[in-house]
Amino acid sequence: MEIKKINRNAIYKLLYRHEPLSIQEIAFTLNMSLPTVTQNIKELQERDLVMEAGLFESTGGRKAKAFAYNSAAKYAVGLDITRNHVGIVIIDLSGKVIKHERRQYPFVNSKEYFAGVGSLVENFIKECEIDNNKILGVGIALPVILSVDRQTVSYATVIDFKGGSVKSFSEFIPYPCLLSNDANAGGLAEMWVDGNMENVVYLSLNNSVGGSIITNKKVYTGENNRSGEFGHMTIVPNGRACYCGQLGCVDAYCSAKILSDSTNGNISEFFRLLKAGCEPQITIWKEYLDHLIIAINNLRMLYDCNVILGGYVGAYLEDHIDSIRELVAKRNTFEVDGSYLHACKYKLEATAVGAALQHVENFINSI
Ligand SMILES: [Zn+2]
Repeated sequence: MEIKKINRNAIYKLLYRHEPLSIQEIAFTLNMSLPTVTQNIKELQERDLVMEAGLFESTGGRKAKAFAYNSAAKYAVGLDITRNHVGIVIIDLSGKVIKHERRQYPFVNSKEYFAGVGSLVENFIKECEIDNNKILGVGIALPVILSVDRQTVSYATVIDFKGGSVKSFSEFIPYPCLLSNDANAGGLAEMWVDGNMENVVYLSLNNSVGGSIITNKKVYTGENNRSGEFGHMTIVPNGRACYCGQLGCVDAYCSAKILSDSTNGNISEFFRLLKAGCEPQITIWKEYLDHLIIAINNLRMLYDCNVILGGYVGAYLEDHIDSIRELVAKRNTFEVDGSYLHACKYKLEATAVGAALQHVENFINSI
């Protein structure tokens, strides 16, 4: 039974990461017999997880059928809970966003708030007209540090939820609920979209700065679930006050607020004015980069892998990534270019997508 499951899982994962394949190609790639592959494909088709996707060109004889995984077999919902907003997405098995929405909804640690989130989720699923039994669950990303079992909140200052539990949400959400740290969720989403990346360091430049470390496609959690808290690395001795109570943290210099404070909290407006060559945006940006470059270089020196810039700021960096690469290369001891540095690919709701992907990942592993 165990071997049967291992085979089925290997076949599904192969189809998940590839263009449609024939039975022969699957058997050859996974070193399995044709009857084993045929039997498993039949079972996966019965579960609606795999489908026929046309015929391959024949080189003589009968044309081989192509098989693909069915990305519409299941869906997952993701929530990005922030101090003032809730972002919500629904994704299919491929990670594609089917629908997203963001609304102002300040976090309050009260039954009314969680009941409100519950009805938001239910209405959102209804509007998408997706069968309830196709919903794998709801992933909930929070700007907090979670306990090792990810059931409770061990540290929270951005929102008032210290000691909080997944139960606060699940009481009002009739689907399995999983909590994630917001930056870990964002990192997972970025790694998912680029199937070739094994190791990634994700620097999340939101109104608070966080990050995540992914090695061999898994989030490195640390011993206290506090890994990747890049926002609280000290970069200036006795520097600016950080909201955490310390001085000189990355957060105090690289939070998105440093930029958007000059445009009434509107980050998109900041980048518009910067592009138009306006002051004080140019001066603010130069000073911001001075510190960001140090943080990025430190990450490269520590982890020697790709670094992805995400969060509100990351979403606007496409036009600036070449100049940032030049600056980080100048600081680098070993490398002459900054090609390891990337702007995030998910421009919208990466955090909510990553939270939802936790359910997709679990589902794929369970097949
Ligand atoms: Zn700090």
